[in-house]
Amino acid sequence: MRAVTATQRARKPRRELTPVDITARFPAFRSGRLENWSAASRDGVWKYERLEDAGTPWSVVHVPTGTEGSWYGTLTAAREATANGSALEYVERIQAHQRGEHKTERDIRCGRCN
Ligand SMILES: [Zn+2]
Repeated sequence: MRAVTATQRARKPRRELTPVDITARFPAFRSGRLENWSAASRDGVWKYERLEDAGTPWSVVHVPTGTEGSWYGTLTAAREATANGSALEYVERIQAHQRGEHKTERDIRCGRCN
């Protein structure tokens, strides 16, 4: 095992974020500052859309299957979820649900069962 130095311990682990291109920007209602409203991953797998809902959450769409994934508080959180695999896991559960795999036993981590 490698010894961990104090500097390494103090450093926060860097979060992996999916590289994206911003596809829509609109000025904020109050400040007039431009805000991001939609984005697409550079690999074409994910689309990120900000919702005009309380807290303006970001929804994530898995483009190859057209499946809407979970909602995230910020674009950064959504990009982190697509980078670390948790967004894909969520989408796979939705697809299993749509195939009827949760009919006999509900999956507590499934966004449709709950
Ligand atoms: Zn389900």
